[in-house]
Amino acid sequence: MANLDDARKAALLPSEYGSFLRFIGQSKGYQVESYQYGKCQAKIYTEPGDKGGAKKSEGIKHAIKTVISNGYALRGEVRVYCAMSFEAQNRAFHRDPGWNSICYITLGKEVMAAADRDSISQQSHPGFERETVTCIHEIGHHLHELSAGDVEFWGTGSSLSGRPVNAAELSQYAGTNKKEFVAEAFAAMNIGRKLSAAAMKEYRDYNGPMIGG
Ligand SMILES: [Zn+2]
Repeated sequence: MANLDDARKAALLPSEYGSFLRFIGQSKGYQVESYQYGKCQAKIYTEPGDKGGAKKSEGIKHAIKTVISNGYALRGEVRVYCAMSFEAQNRAFHRDPGWNSICYITLGKEVMAAADRDSISQQSHPGFERETVTCIHEIGHHLHELSAGDVEFWGTGSSLSGRPVNAAELSQYAGTNKKEFVAEAFAAMNIGRKLSAAAMKEYRDYNGPMIGG
């Protein structure tokens, strides 16, 4: 498989690892909790004084457990950073400055609250908290970057640019772009929702993460 060229990697790093550093730099400090499940070693970062910290931590563990129990190959180090005192995006970061694969997830302070966007995490799913579903969505981005490969995921002219077709059965947010479609479909499947054959085909066409993959 071809490699992503160095100029493209260098162009992406400020918005990728650079954004990650800016995010974690906004906190005065984190407390770290380790969590092992299957072949995944997770580190959960919460700000001291975050009254929602314990609930976020439980939600993150539930997300990791769900994805692995469903048969997806989530392995290695997964770091999840929870914001309490500042605005932050819910986002997955995929690459360090050496372009090595990483799975660092940031969760904003509003992760447990209802947001104004229509996404899978904002719909009601018995047995799954909002922070769990959001975290599963972000894990979906991580696994998608691996299953699609960096050329497909990051390259200019990638087939992942443009709009998805079958987003409406998932959420409004799934219609944002093809990567969000895959992450929303991944979240939906992991919490037990069935996709239509057409949506499933589209998910496969975009190299969405598959069980055992
Ligand atoms: Zn997303």
